[in-house]
Amino acid sequence: TERKNYTEKLEKKVEERTKQLTEALAKEKELNELKTRFLSLVSHEFKTPLSSILTSITLLGKYTETEQQEKRDKHVNTIKNKVKYLDTILNDFLSVERLESGKVNYKIEIFSLSKIVNEVIYNANMLLKSGQKIQYPDNIDEIILQFDEKTLELVLSNLIHNAIKYSPEDSIIELKVEIEEEEFVVKVIDEGIGIPNEEQKHIFDRYFRAENALVTQGTGIGLNIAKQHLENLGASIKFSSRENMGSTFILHIPKTLNTI
Ligand code: ADP
Repeated sequence: TERKNYTEKLEKKVEERTKQLTEALAKEKELNELKTRFLSLVSHEFKTPLSSILTSITLLGKYTETEQQEKRDKHVNTIKNKVKYLDTILNDFLSVERLESGKVNYKIEIFSLSKIVNEVIYNANMLLKSGQKIQYPDNIDEIILQFDEKTLELVLSNLIHNAIKYSPEDSIIELKVEIEEEEFVVKVIDEGIGIPNEEQKHIFDRYFRAENALVTQGTGIGLNIAKQHLENLGASIKFSSRENMGSTFILHIPKTLNTI
């Protein structure tokens, strides 16, 4: 029986070790797949804006006469927009890296919501499609938040950019703020393409992009990092959406951050 016991123990150990190794291999495979996907995403996402910057710079060099000022301005604007876009996605990638390695430093400050909204809308105005409008309420001046300012700006700018990107010309994007007892509820409402029902459960997954969004440029990173940052800060993000009808993204921000 001693030998039998010993053999059984040994078998169990081998079994455990095999399981560990299989798991480690699967994890490595998944990491490699993510790396490959990441690299192809970066090269793909950078190619289009970079080639458009190059074209604009080349043309800019040609329009030297004063009467060609308008054409020059147009190309300067294109360059500005594309560089901004590249900067945004680079920051998103860096955010992923920082979140992953636990190297995020939040700074809780007191500030008014209008400061962030003005900044975000100012930048978003350059991206609006023809006839698109952003509406926001007067009450944002009164709303004083205790939160990480940079994070809220990143999240709101992301939501507004998505609303612009995924909505048609001549549509309204609305920012709404509700003041509840213990939290502020900030909503970004659009009249855009919406998110297909069967894909809604994946919308916060890293790199996920819905089928109907693929005609537009994007990385599938913004919402994922927004959710992680918000949750780290005791806030949350939700949405409701209907395909071809529009989407509403909803932020719940606690009034005080005693909890963290
Ligand atoms: P990206 O926009 O770069 O693809 P995000 O993480 O911001 O990445 O969004 C993930 C996906 O969620 C998008 O690809 C799109 O399918 C969907 N989505 C996000 N916002 C909206 C919106 N306002 N309307 C429709 N679909 C949206």
